[in-house]
Amino acid sequence: MYLERFGSGAPTGNGLVRAIIAFLEDQRLEPTPVNYTFAYRVMSDPAGELAREVARRTDGGFRLSGSEVEELGNAIEAAARGRIGPAPAAEASAAPHEPDPRTVETQRLVAGFESAVTAMHDETRNFGRDLAASADALDAVPCIDVAAAITDLARITATMRARVEIAEARLAQAKREASELREELAAAHEDARRDPLTELPNRRAFEAALADARGDLRHVALCDVDHFKSINDRYGHPVGDRVLKAIAATLTRECDGHLVARYGGEEFAVLLSGIDTASAGALLERARRAVGARRYRLRETDTVIDGITLSAGLVTLRSGETVTQGVARADRLLYAAKRGGRNQMIGETH
Ligand code: GH3
Ligand code: MG
Ligand code: MG
Repeated sequence: MYLERFGSGAPTGNGLVRAIIAFLEDQRLEPTPVNYTFAYRVMSDPAGELAREVARRTDGGFRLSGSEVEELGNAIEAAARGRIGPAPAAEASAAPHEPDPRTVETQRLVAGFESAVTAMHDETRNFGRDLAASADALDAVPCIDVAAAITDLARITATMRARVEIAEARLAQAKREASELREELAAAHEDARRDPLTELPNRRAFEAALADARGDLRHVALCDVDHFKSINDRYGHPVGDRVLKAIAATLTRECDGHLVARYGGEEFAVLLSGIDTASAGALLERARRAVGARRYRLRETDTVIDGITLSAGLVTLRSGETVTQGVARADRLLYAAKRGGRNQMIGETH
């Protein structure tokens, strides 16, 4: 918009100065040396990469925030060192220490909201001021020209309506973008907590649930598939994957009402709550036996894969015990079960 105003070529001399000032005013940027330099770079090369990026970000009436000026300014410095800066989102995903592209997008949206709301606020204030001036003028003139006053008021109101419509469109656009981003963030949050193979909650989700769980009756079980490596070795990794999915489904069904998670490769964790220690032991043992009793069949040849068993360690969390301590105790019992011959569960002895 500000570029169009000054024609297609780069303005020079006084034209350039006016263009820079207009840019700073449009963007509500203070005429500081940093902002001035930035505006100079934009206006002196309207077809350049920076001007195009600025045009993209301000499309729809958004204003640049101070941090965007800084970010784009830094990108030009980088470009001047021989690397024409890619779009900020792509750059962010390439370097792990840089913010997530979604964070950058969120910041841009927040800045867009701020700018739209500030613009609306300014317009409303201007409208109030114009109305007050018009009312003062009516008061000051003893014999008013009613027709002129009405025309004046109609003009002010029409201008205000047009501006409010623009501001509303900007807000609606920002709102649409915000809800898309919210959905993306929710999906990303969900992905980060779920194991894609078994669709069970993953270790992170399990530990978070364990840390959040309240009450005295919380039991943690760690279950590990016995000699699973040999399943992969005999039938191949894809079959191993299918077996893991089947085990996940059996545990989930048997431990209905409790939380079953994939804790690691061929390890599952169960959080049992609201039942006493004996019931937790009985429930887990039933689930463990169900995994062992299930017949796993190779689809292709109808061959039965037998000998799929689980070893498990089960503890009841003590008051004041951390998640890590509880899981470590369950892990020690699991390994006692392995050492004791596998295909068994070991609970605590008090
Ligand atoms: P143990 O009874 O001592 O637990 O023996 P194990 O063979 O089960 O234990 P080990 O730790 O030696 O091997 C675990 C195997 O589990 C090795 C690894 O390739 C396999 N595994 C882990 N995650 C997956 C997976 O997602 N898919 C498949 N197919 N295999 C997996
Ligand atoms: Mg293991
Ligand atoms: Mg194992």
